[in-house]
Amino acid sequence: MDSGRYFSQPLENIEDIDVFEEAVDRKKLTRRVSEERPYTYWTLEYYDQDNGIRGGGGLGVLAADMRRVAERMNVPFVLITPFYPREVHQVRRKETYGELYAECDYRNFDYRLVDSVFIKCCGNLCKLDVIEKRLGSTRILCITEPGFRELYADASGSDHRLYQEVALGFGGYAALKLVGLRPAVMQLNEVATFFAALARLDELVNNGMDFYEAMVYTRKHTLYTNHTLVQAAEAEFGAEQFERFVLPNLKSRAVRKWLMDKFTDGRLRLSTVTIEIAELRSGVSKLHARVANYRDVAGEKVKFKAITNGIDVYRWVAPQTLTFYRECGIIDIMGRPTADYGEALNKLTSDEIRHLKAQGRAILNEILADYPDQNGVILQFTEGDFIFDFKRRFVDYKRPEMPFADIRRLREVLEPRGAHYILTGRVHSGDTRMMGVLSEVLDKIATDDYLRAHVHYLADYDERLAFGLSCGCNAAINLPIVGLEACGTSWEKDVANLQVLISTNDGGVADVDAKYHLDVRGVDFDEELASLYARMREAIQIWDSDFDLEYVMREQLYGFLPIVSGARMMQEYLDYIFPA
Ligand SMILES: *Cc1c(COP(=O)(O)O)cnc(C)c1O
Repeated sequence: MDSGRYFSQPLENIEDIDVFEEAVDRKKLTRRVSEERPYTYWTLEYYDQDNGIRGGGGLGVLAADMRRVAERMNVPFVLITPFYPREVHQVRRKETYGELYAECDYRNFDYRLVDSVFIKCCGNLCKLDVIEKRLGSTRILCITEPGFRELYADASGSDHRLYQEVALGFGGYAALKLVGLRPAVMQLNEVATFFAALARLDELVNNGMDFYEAMVYTRKHTLYTNHTLVQAAEAEFGAEQFERFVLPNLKSRAVRKWLMDKFTDGRLRLSTVTIEIAELRSGVSKLHARVANYRDVAGEKVKFKAITNGIDVYRWVAPQTLTFYRECGIIDIMGRPTADYGEALNKLTSDEIRHLKAQGRAILNEILADYPDQNGVILQFTEGDFIFDFKRRFVDYKRPEMPFADIRRLREVLEPRGAHYILTGRVHSGDTRMMGVLSEVLDKIATDDYLRAHVHYLADYDERLAFGLSCGCNAAINLPIVGLEACGTSWEKDVANLQVLISTNDGGVADVDAKYHLDVRGVDFDEELASLYARMREAIQIWDSDFDLEYVMREQLYGFLPIVSGARMMQEYLDYIFPA
């Protein structure tokens, strides 16, 4: 699949070094982070198809954006993740959708085979190959072996999942040493990466440091980034599983004892020990950091520092739109809004918006050639077409089926303008409930002759399709049940690419006042649904009026560009980890 074409804008020359120094406070940073002592980022999920790894959703996209932003900001940064030997694709099968596995070979993606490391599991020595790829100031360091299978191959409390997590933690830590690096900080992208911090603790104690000293040291240099709202929803592991997979990899008796003392009735959630081993803790939006309900071993509520997810605008914004932002002084070289971006936004005219959208639509049309809809049709749109999109994992709290709750009213919204609605998102393996919901939606569409030709479900949603839809559609729909979305980043891609955002006030959207987007709200489902249809009508009207289009786009960008900026996110992480 040709995915690279519009991706990864080349780095511009860093012409203004003062701006650059100030941007990352390099003098401060270089004392703490260096090439030999990089910022390390640990993640079980990584979504970067240009580099051969397809993640599951937002968690992996965030990891890839972190690395790209670090590269742009010239931060010494190492991302440690598994390279999975296979990945899942969604395919159309008769009346329904199924899964297809594809083999992945790192040799097709310019990785260098470094050597091997070993971990111990169930009485066996497991050999893991270490591969790496350098990209500017960053590298992707992977461990891999054929038995890894795919991301999330088994359930979250399963032996295989624990094996993947242990392999990443202990194997990844050994890999880091193999390439001669020591971490300045370890950022744990969710609790699945806990074992990396544990490996470090064990190494320190094994090298002669007192257990408590080693714990204090590890804690000070570990950041746990939480994306989940409810601790109770997390899977547990049994002590017996730890005896087979974890303990054989620990040299220190004190570390083993500390770990096993954390089990209650023979069960353990990784968040319990991750909270203990990481003094720095962050949530991924203001709302999420406030409502995430986690308790430490003493029963105290855990405080999370809010660092809202951003995106790498150089990766996700259509090239012409990005050039426009740069030339008008709306964003700087790092991808952050400039000091006077509000004023610069006044240069954004309806003509320019329509012109940029037309170019975004050409990108979309090219990408759509590879994604037939549910009827096997390859869609192509003209500049005059109006397109709504809904693109995200097909899980219940995101409510992909909500617009179809009343198909008569949906038709009344779309038909007068001849508007199209594109729906895409993969159902999680084994989620039979949502599989049923998808079938129901498709059945409903098929019964209505207008919707049959204007509502399109595209299979095998991935980053390339996400990019195309963000660039080429007019209005993006985001409907998480309020309180359940940690942040969400697809809406950020949409805002940056000049789509009108229709959304519930949740996740990162709720970082700013609700006046900056078309807010969907109501005291109950019926009211919310009425609000959604009204907002969809409004989006159509906005695009029909030059005045409204200008006003809404300027406001939306003014409100959201600071949040959208991945460089802003990176800066906040650096300031949090390395305070002045
Ligand atoms: C951006 C992106 C996501 C993030 O989705 P959210 O639902 O907004 O968290 C997920 N998957 C893909 C392929 C993406 O490109």
